[in-house]
Amino acid sequence: MSDTSFATGHCLCGAVSFVAKTAPVMTGQCHCKDCQRASGTGHMSLAFFKREDVAINGPTASFAATADSGNINTRHFCPRCGGRIYGENSARPGMVGIAVGAVDDNSWFKAQRVVYVKDQPAWDVTPTDVPRFDMMPPPPPKA
Ligand SMILES: [Zn+2]
Ligand SMILES: [Zn+2]
Repeated sequence: MSDTSFATGHCLCGAVSFVAKTAPVMTGQCHCKDCQRASGTGHMSLAFFKREDVAINGPTASFAATADSGNINTRHFCPRCGGRIYGENSARPGMVGIAVGAVDDNSWFKAQRVVYVKDQPAWDVTPTDVPRFDMMPPPPPKA
C-alpha cells in the first residue's frame, strides 16, 4: 500500500482491484435478503466511500435490484470469479459501498450501524453495541 492510499483490495481471481484514497465516510452491515442472496451468507459488511476517492481497475459485471425501500441497489462483481467488489445505491448518488471482505487489510473495519435486522438469521452474528435498524434508516445528514 502506498502512503497515499487508505486501503487496497481485489477479487478472488485478481482481475478486479481497487484503491481507496481515504478512510470510509460510513460503515455498516446489512442483513437484507438481497445482501444475503448476493453474498451467500447472512450479511454484507460494507465501507462507504465517495466514488471519486476509489479507483477501480478491471471490468465488473453488475446486477441492479430494487430494494423494498424502492431504491435501486446495483451490485458490482468480478465476471470471472464472482467476487463482490462494490455496490451503488440510488439513494446515495456519488457513493460506493466497498465489500469489506475484498479489502486486503480490513482489520480497521468496525460497523457503525447494522441495518435490516428484521431479516437477520439467528445463526449470523453482528455487533449489538452499535445502532441497529429493522430496515434502512433515513440517510445521515450531509457533511
Ligand atoms: Zn475475480
Ligand atoms: Zn442489504
